[in-house]
Amino acid sequence: MSTTAAKPLPPGSTIGILGGGQLGRMSALAAARLGYRCHIYAPEADSPGMQVAAAHTVAAYEDAAALARFAAAVDVVTFEFENVPAATLAALEPLAPCRPGVQVLRVCQDRLEEKAFLERAGVPVAPWRAVHTEADLAAAVAAIGLPAVLKTTRLGYDGRGQAVLRRPEDLAPAFARLSPRPLILEAFVPFVAEVSAIAARGVDGTLAVYDAVENRHRDHILDLSFAPARLAPATAEAARRHAGQVAEALGLVGLLALEMFVLPDGSLLGNEIAPRPHNSGHWTMDACLASQFEQHVRAVAGLPLADPARHHDAVMKNLVGPEGLALWPQLVRTPGVAPHLYGKAEARPGRKLGHANRILPLGSLATMDDSVALAGL
Ligand code: AMP
Repeated sequence: MSTTAAKPLPPGSTIGILGGGQLGRMSALAAARLGYRCHIYAPEADSPGMQVAAAHTVAAYEDAAALARFAAAVDVVTFEFENVPAATLAALEPLAPCRPGVQVLRVCQDRLEEKAFLERAGVPVAPWRAVHTEADLAAAVAAIGLPAVLKTTRLGYDGRGQAVLRRPEDLAPAFARLSPRPLILEAFVPFVAEVSAIAARGVDGTLAVYDAVENRHRDHILDLSFAPARLAPATAEAARRHAGQVAEALGLVGLLALEMFVLPDGSLLGNEIAPRPHNSGHWTMDACLASQFEQHVRAVAGLPLADPARHHDAVMKNLVGPEGLALWPQLVRTPGVAPHLYGKAEARPGRKLGHANRILPLGSLATMDDSVALAGL
């Protein structure tokens, strides 16, 4: 690593962010607090990120001239969602430092690459097979058994692009429906909980890992995160360790979330890597001195990472669609709740519009009844 690469960006520098969603918005707000400017690049005008950034470019990810102008206007480039085309980051890399780099994006854009990578990084995963043809699917089911989950390998999110196979009759229709191919078949995991841990890695290779949290979904979209996850201490530690292992194995400069399943015996299986701030880390905005967004900014700007310690326990509630927005008037008047809204023009069903963090005394969540933790959320 060159000494220039390790030098922190001076105050007033500009961080370029690919993607204009809420993750870019909250990163830009955190960057502003540290004295940086952000330049958001996204195809959609008036995106949540652009509303709070010093500069923006509305252009396609394939627009080479716009990308070159963007690179010339920023000091470092990062991204806020991993479906930015790898070619876009590859085009930017010769023009500006990109943190994380395109190789990280490539691993996380493809579930086959991702699963193989997790195994190499020492994180156990459910048995899996690549499925290119219907014959591959039959062979994979013969090897793995049923039930199993068939997924697209690219561009899947929030449970889209997958099918649970329970009986032999389920194979053909699921194979016909899911595209693009190849697909991946995974053993169905009889998990008792879904957890995630967020790890940042700085330019100097130091790690900062937040406490693992338990995630609950509704209609395949994250609904609640409980911070910290109520796990045996060894399991909670293993979750954090796995997130750090992945960040190190990727050579990440930035921040990632590792989603994992908890098995009945307390062991963990890795499921997905998101190489950017993550919905399951929003609790850090109000329960830690430095949020995941600040930590992301620190990593890409080459600043020292902050202490990821939790000063409160927290429950994060996502505000999804009109139903989520309807909670807003109540949330803004509830003591102990920090509400966040993303500035989206339309409250379409299934759209993440904001979230609220209920802050609880440190250590209190472990023995708290869910009805108490969730009252008013
Ligand atoms: P994913 O898109 O991989 O994050 O999956 C979305 C959700 O589907 C997860 O949060 C789980 O609830 C469920 N799921 C995914 N993979 C499996 C699996 N192999 N076994 C059981 N449930 C799964």
